[in-house]
Amino acid sequence: MEVVEDIVIVGAGIAGLITSLGLHRQGIRSLVLESSGSLRNTGFALTTWANAWKALDAVGLGDTLRQHHQRLHG
Ligand SMILES: Cc1cc2nc3c(=O)[nH]c(=O)nc-3n(C[C@H](O)[C@H](O)[C@H](O)COP(=O)(O)OP(=O)(O)OC[C@H]3O[C@@H](n4cnc5c(N)ncnc54)[C@H](O)[C@@H]3O)c2cc1C
Repeated sequence: MEVVEDIVIVGAGIAGLITSLGLHRQGIRSLVLESSGSLRNTGFALTTWANAWKALDAVGLGDTLRQHHQRLHG
């Protein structure tokens, strides 16, 4: 089967998935390709910096995540 998409995103990490979601919210289709057959089960926290929050706000996820996030100072 041949699949034709204007936008192909390589990698279903947080960057690829947020990019795809942002495009979807704009009505733009994309195809996300992931080489790994399973989820990575390492890591224990999500550290987000100012640009990441801007990206999360742009796709409408920022406020939801802020309710469950602890802000570190210093
Ligand atoms: C062991 C480990 C633990 C970590 N723990 C934390 C943590 O606790 N908190 C935190 O904030 N950050 C953590 N990080 C960092 C975090 O993984 C990155 O900041 C974040 O995942 C980067 O997102 P990304 O979407 O850019 O890349 P990735 O999450 O690396 O996603 C890239 C994806 O692309 C896929 N891919 C690569 N090449 C191809 C290809 N040719 N074709 C198709 N798919 C492909 C990969 O399989 C992967 O799924 C950790 C990193 C590692 C390695």
